[in-house]
Amino acid sequence: MRVVVIGAGVVGSAVAAGLTRRGAQVTVLEAGTPGAGTTSTSVAWINANNKTPQAYFDLNHAAVWAHHQLPGDWFHPTGNLEYAVTDDHKEQLEARVSRLQGMGYPVERVTARRALALEPDLVPPPPGTEHVFFPVEAYVQPLRLLGRLLGEARDHGARLECGAEVTAIEAGASGVKVTVADGRTFAGDAVVTCAGRWSEQVAALAGATVPMLDPAVSGTVTNGFLVTTTAVPARLSRILTTAALNLRPDGGGRILLQSLPLDHLADPAAPVPAEVLAKMIALLPGVLHATDGAAVERAVVGQRAMPGDGLTVAGFADPDRRVYTVATHSGVTLAPLLMDEVAGELYGEESPLLAPFRPGRFTDGTAGPAPAPARRPGQQ
Ligand SMILES: Cc1cc2nc3c(=O)[nH]c(=O)nc-3n(C[C@H](O)[C@H](O)[C@H](O)COP(=O)(O)OP(=O)(O)OC[C@H]3O[C@@H](n4cnc5c(N)ncnc54)[C@H](O)[C@@H]3O)c2cc1C
Repeated sequence: MRVVVIGAGVVGSAVAAGLTRRGAQVTVLEAGTPGAGTTSTSVAWINANNKTPQAYFDLNHAAVWAHHQLPGDWFHPTGNLEYAVTDDHKEQLEARVSRLQGMGYPVERVTARRALALEPDLVPPPPGTEHVFFPVEAYVQPLRLLGRLLGEARDHGARLECGAEVTAIEAGASGVKVTVADGRTFAGDAVVTCAGRWSEQVAALAGATVPMLDPAVSGTVTNGFLVTTTAVPARLSRILTTAALNLRPDGGGRILLQSLPLDHLADPAAPVPAEVLAKMIALLPGVLHATDGAAVERAVVGQRAMPGDGLTVAGFADPDRRVYTVATHSGVTLAPLLMDEVAGELYGEESPLLAPFRPGRFTDGTAGPAPAPARRPGQQ
């Protein structure tokens, strides 16, 4: 089978790898360079922690385990330590822990002492703080994961065309023809659109309806600050989640910071405001020792790829089953699972995990409402 994959983010790279594993001849068309979209601005926390409804949790939970089946030095299976100080955070953490335990998701309430054993440089929060450890969660270096997936696809013959912005898709009973901005055309038996936050426009080229929330207008659901510090001599091994600040290692002693309460100030059209940078850097020594003197090495406004109802979109979008579309938030978590599940569907194997996420829900009126605007601890 000849398949054209549109988009070389982590999702398109995974799908390309999965297809080449099954023997497909794959051409990947990328408007810019691989990973330059949302994949390069991700916390890349691998989790199913606050994912609802059940079908979306099941998908993410399966994906967490798929990462554990794809070990490599981009993958850090060190778990997530979350602590709650305020009554509001404690209440919502408690409810989440009970729910996740009921769904068979590994989660442990831990003592302050155990939390310190996990993260020795943690600044001890006040007595009465609740600590919870999610042992199967992880973080990845997203570009290295992408490189692993795209590399496998290339090793198996996939052709990658960068600077190839798709401008037209013609699909019919006999196959597909995909045209790029410079006029070149690519023929195939099927096309898979993996265009991240551009999915609405790209799917529309094939006549498909995939509403995406517009990062330019939809606030904290889609936009979030990510700040990478300069290298510091602090010990940090894992995702650390608190109400004010989320942290993870970012290579070479750098720390990636995220502050959900500040994200309402994120404007993708503007640089990260100086006062936001100052606040995030000022919060750090209150959470982790040995971080005094940390400065900002990189600061970005990340723009999530968020389907209109917040849930994954995966499935054929045309009656001839020539146009398959994938668009999802949490794409870093989901990539190793989508690799096999999407490729299988192209080869006629219906995926029970993907069945609840068909694009048809946006045209038959069964799609749910847009996600709530405020993001909370335990959510990405
Ligand atoms: C602040 C923030 C934090 C996040 N944290 C997490 C997290 O902790 N865990 C997690 O799992 N996920 C997280 N995510 C989400 C995750 O990063 C994304 O879901 C994932 O990177 C999306 O990958 P993608 O391949 O779908 O999209 P992208 O990486 O955006 O790739 C899409 C590609 O399609 C290309 N393209 C678009 N239009 C065309 C066209 N016409 N022709 C050719 N190519 C085209 C683009 O150039 C781009 O390279 C976070 C996102 C943000 C913004």
